[in-house]
Amino acid sequence: MSEQLGTQQRPLRVAIIGAGPSGFYAAGALQGKLKESGLHTSIDMFDKLIAPHGLVRYGVAPDHQKIKSVSKVYDLTANDANFRYFGNVEFGKDLTHAEMREMYDAIIYAVGAQSDRNLGVPGENLPNSFSATEFVAWYNSHPEYANFNPDLSVSSAVVVGVGNVAMDVARILAKSVEELKVSDIADHALADLANSNIKDVYILSRRGPAQVKFTPVEIKEFGELAVAEPVILPQEMQIDEVSAKLADADGEMRRNLVTMNAFAARHSEGKERRVHFRFLLSPVEILADADGKISGVKCEINKLVPNDDQSDMKAVGTGQFETIPAGLVMRSVGYKGSPLAGVPYDKRSGTIPNKEGRVTADGGVTVSGEYVVGWAKRGPSGVIGTNKPDSVATVVSLVADVGALTPATNPSRDAVVALLQSRNVRFVTQAEWKKIDAAELAAGKAQSRPRVKLVSPDDMLKVL
Ligand code: NAP
Repeated sequence: MSEQLGTQQRPLRVAIIGAGPSGFYAAGALQGKLKESGLHTSIDMFDKLIAPHGLVRYGVAPDHQKIKSVSKVYDLTANDANFRYFGNVEFGKDLTHAEMREMYDAIIYAVGAQSDRNLGVPGENLPNSFSATEFVAWYNSHPEYANFNPDLSVSSAVVVGVGNVAMDVARILAKSVEELKVSDIADHALADLANSNIKDVYILSRRGPAQVKFTPVEIKEFGELAVAEPVILPQEMQIDEVSAKLADADGEMRRNLVTMNAFAARHSEGKERRVHFRFLLSPVEILADADGKISGVKCEINKLVPNDDQSDMKAVGTGQFETIPAGLVMRSVGYKGSPLAGVPYDKRSGTIPNKEGRVTADGGVTVSGEYVVGWAKRGPSGVIGTNKPDSVATVVSLVADVGALTPATNPSRDAVVALLQSRNVRFVTQAEWKKIDAAELAAGKAQSRPRVKLVSPDDMLKVL
């Protein structure tokens, strides 16, 4: 006879893989079900890194501290008696998919989108051509990128793409060390950026100003920088009729255009750095000089044509070219997921295939007891808060399925601890993370910074 899951005697055992925003929102939503419907849960959250909070810690820009305050909400979730954190535990390596299935009634994948998209152009693999993902991880103290060391001795940098990530990386390149040192930027990045020679940052959009992906607050910041000013060519602000109509119906786009038009109308203040927003340019080759160093980005000039239903505009090459000077090239053209051992994966979209958060295998068949949230579910879109309703929706699916789930064969809370200990996996608990957190905050206080992040796992473990 199968046991009833979700009772006080036999809580629903849920493993959440990934301790980023989507994982925490899923945990919070599950905890909320106790009050709502009397469902008892026991949640174990795993992350391959020691520190939790995923993109809030390692993605959100260090000079955007307000966004990071959401981690207080995650701490409330983590403080629940029926929640345990296991940092420094890698799914697929320290614990296999089959073992997890034995110990948990349900698994929620909250693994985000860890890798990046390529441009697919010649020269992309030259030294000092890299992805924004790597640069972000480097300046945010991600342990795997501490030695990334981009060459900032060059005078000109190109950022490809006009999403919010492109805004983040361009702003970090454009800010003075005084502006950066009040943040929790990695010390190694602060030291390198203090010696940066970069004077011109070119942000390249393959479409026009009415098709940008960034949000109004992000573009506005470029008008408020201490040592850098925005540059937009007035002729590139000419917008065709269809684009104007589409932009008019979109409040954020209207605000973006107001800001960009103001930038285009500005006279230079003679600041030492410039951030150029360039439109209708698609990189076709990253060029190198005789020493193999990047010298520029050859771009095809595009024009815009409406797509079939006139709902958007697409870029079409004109056969004419322009070369933008560059010694560093950063592509910021979107993230993509990476497959997990034993878990279905859709290569094309870079996500875990699912229906309403229920993982599906080939042919669309639901994999009982497995769920997905966040970027791994819907792709890399939306801000941190977008993950809340998304995770709630998956939890609604999970809760609807509880009666039909196959109970775990080894649901004891001790099982996972014993297994990890037998493998000498030094997992980090929530209480231990809070000690590391306190050490970082204290180091920050001493320097009048929000925190000084510990980078290497060894340094973090030393605190314990
Ligand atoms: P994104 O918003 O999807 O932007 C990707 C950009 O890359 C677009 O401008 C896109 O142009 C361009 N692109 C794609 N393929 C290209 C190609 N082959 N050649 C040239 N350009 C290409 O992605 P993201 O910036 O990585 O951001 C991911 C998500 O995180 C977004 O939802 C973003 O808002 C969010 N985020 C938010 C914040 C914040 O709230 N402050 C900060 C960072 C990230 P097309 O439009 O023409 O495809």
